[in-house]
Amino acid sequence: MKPISYARPTTAEQAVSTVTARPRTVFLAGGTTLVDMLRIGAMEPDNVVDITWLPLGGLEHTPEGGLRIGALAKMSEVAAEPDVVERYPFLLVALWKGASAQLRNMATMGGNLMQKVRCSYFREPGHACNKREPGSGCAALDGMHRGHAILGTSPMCFATHPSDVAIPLVALDATVTVWGPRGERTIAFDDFFLLPGNTPHVEHPLAEDELITRIDVPPLPFATNSHYLKVRDRESYEFALTSAAVALNVADGTVIDVRIGLGGVGTKPWRARIAEAQLIGKAATTANFAKAAAAELAGADATHPMNAFKVELAQRTLVRALETVRPQVYLLGGFK
Ligand code: SF4
Repeated sequence: MKPISYARPTTAEQAVSTVTARPRTVFLAGGTTLVDMLRIGAMEPDNVVDITWLPLGGLEHTPEGGLRIGALAKMSEVAAEPDVVERYPFLLVALWKGASAQLRNMATMGGNLMQKVRCSYFREPGHACNKREPGSGCAALDGMHRGHAILGTSPMCFATHPSDVAIPLVALDATVTVWGPRGERTIAFDDFFLLPGNTPHVEHPLAEDELITRIDVPPLPFATNSHYLKVRDRESYEFALTSAAVALNVADGTVIDVRIGLGGVGTKPWRARIAEAQLIGKAATTANFAKAAAAELAGADATHPMNAFKVELAQRTLVRALETVRPQVYLLGGFK
């Protein structure tokens, strides 16, 4: 392993100025992704800036009634927050199912959003990978791609975004606030993740000297009726083949409002706006859930042999998640 310099600033200003002064510098938080990447040689920075001593942890309530999550808050801290347990159950389940207990105690919320794709060719130097080495090609096209994306793909890259917790966060219209030498700015969660297009190595609209400081989760009263369903090859310590984060507001059998995020299928955390628009104002029936799911997946990329099964599986996952949060009283009334 080549030598890497290490700095441990105690203020955000010091952290950012260190990155500005030294090219090929990366931030280190919980280290649950970065340390892996350094070990296997998939990332080769010259300098690491350890930001774990910065005062960017904790959770607060916002004046609007939402949650403000510090970028360095641990996944386990957020999962233990009573407001998350009571008001955002799909966020709680995504935190539980997103990592083992050991990882939840180390991984930070900001780091979770910045984690790297699990495409094995990205993680194995020596294979063609446009994301790791722009212009080198994509070994996954003719290789193993069972876990790869079917939404938001490009011929340059179709690696799946691996985060679970990002799926309810995109459904909740969370925001990400970053800070750098040019000041603070807040980015809508959906805009924080970029589609691969022709530049799959550019994953976020962040300058190298910008640091995530917090994630804001707005209030959403009907999120008390929410669920995160994760489908995977084994029940523990595994990434999603498909997942759905849903919050549903039904009155008199009609969908008043709905939020849907899909995981395991997109090159970014996928907000299912087509399905949402199709459901609002309709009867909360399984048939309408299936129609909305089909509309969302109509544009899916089913051209790759190993992951084409996800088109059907994603629809079934979404329908099952919506059925789970549909008020049972309507089932008794004869919903189909
Ligand atoms: Fe690299 Fe993306 Fe192709 Fe995987 S799918 S090899 S990450 S370019």
